[in-house]
Amino acid sequence: MTSTPPNPPARPRRPQLNLTVRSSHELSPSMVRVVLGIDEPERYEDIAPPEKYVKLVFLDPSVEGPLRARGETPDYWELKETLPGAQQPVTRHLTIRRWVPERHELWMDFVVHGDEGFAGPWAARAEPGDRIIALGPGGKWSPDPDAGWTLIAADDAAIPAALAVLEALPANACGEVVLEVDSPRDVLDVPAPAGMAVHWVFRQDADDDVPALVRAVGEAGWPEATEDVQVFAHGEREAMKALRRELFTRRGLERSQASLSGYWARGRTEDAFQAEKKLPIGQIL
Ligand SMILES: Cc1cc2nc3c(=O)[nH]c(=O)nc-3n(C[C@H](O)[C@H](O)[C@H](O)COP(=O)(O)OP(=O)(O)OC[C@H]3O[C@@H](n4cnc5c(N)ncnc54)[C@H](O)[C@@H]3O)c2cc1C
Repeated sequence: MTSTPPNPPARPRRPQLNLTVRSSHELSPSMVRVVLGIDEPERYEDIAPPEKYVKLVFLDPSVEGPLRARGETPDYWELKETLPGAQQPVTRHLTIRRWVPERHELWMDFVVHGDEGFAGPWAARAEPGDRIIALGPGGKWSPDPDAGWTLIAADDAAIPAALAVLEALPANACGEVVLEVDSPRDVLDVPAPAGMAVHWVFRQDADDDVPALVRAVGEAGWPEATEDVQVFAHGEREAMKALRRELFTRRGLERSQASLSGYWARGRTEDAFQAEKKLPIGQIL
């Protein structure tokens, strides 16, 4: 006789943050910053970056509109349990670029990547007074202040997290920062410790075979001994797979020395990208 395996324990439910847009600013042609106030800040703790993220929730307007019109705040978990498949909430990961506790304010920087999707188009249109809900925060990684040499590598989607990590390094940190964007028009002003050299690389200059970010990481000024190196490399999935070879095969780093993470995948919505994380195509480490 076969026995039915017990159900896996339910994942703890992330708290819901109720947010209101305070302002938005174009940082570059491809990036917009949205500043959001938290409605009930006393309910939330442990928001501080670096590498903290939330899941923004996008609701079907036919669901959200009537709720908001009645002055009600949508409840994610209730809607998730009750709405039919076609109206299920859609979630998108976004980094908390900065938390300003005295103003109960979050900053999020969004890549504006065209009309497709939810997060990018929402941010491009965001106006003061717009409401949105989020789940979180999540994220645990923080840099080791005693590392001998630090490499930070990111494309646009991971630049908010990369810059939060850079800000968390001590003033005597030493290493390199490689940031990939479309063109020089997308370069941002990045204050950094004197020992952290910042390099911008451009997709417009890259050849078809090797992403600009991957090439630049390979050409960085790596120290000969890599025992006290730490790496934060986040971005497009295929680029991260190529970096896996660079970091662990060519440079011989231990897995524990690197935070290597795919943030999105070209030609995939986040839903498809997240679903593929369970398959060989979606695995980075
Ligand atoms: C932990 C974590 C933190 C993240 N932080 C941020 C952040 O701070 N800012 C940010 O902008 N993104 C961030 N991302 C990435 C973001 O979640 C994805 O890019 C997401 O796909 C964007 O959702 P969307 O609704 O705009 O597009 P989707 O509906 O997911 O995708 C629509 C189309 O746009 C393409 N696309 C998606 N993202 C990009 C992109 N960056 N460049 C070019 N094409 C794209 C997709 O491949 C797809 O073809 C983070 C991801 C993770 C896992």
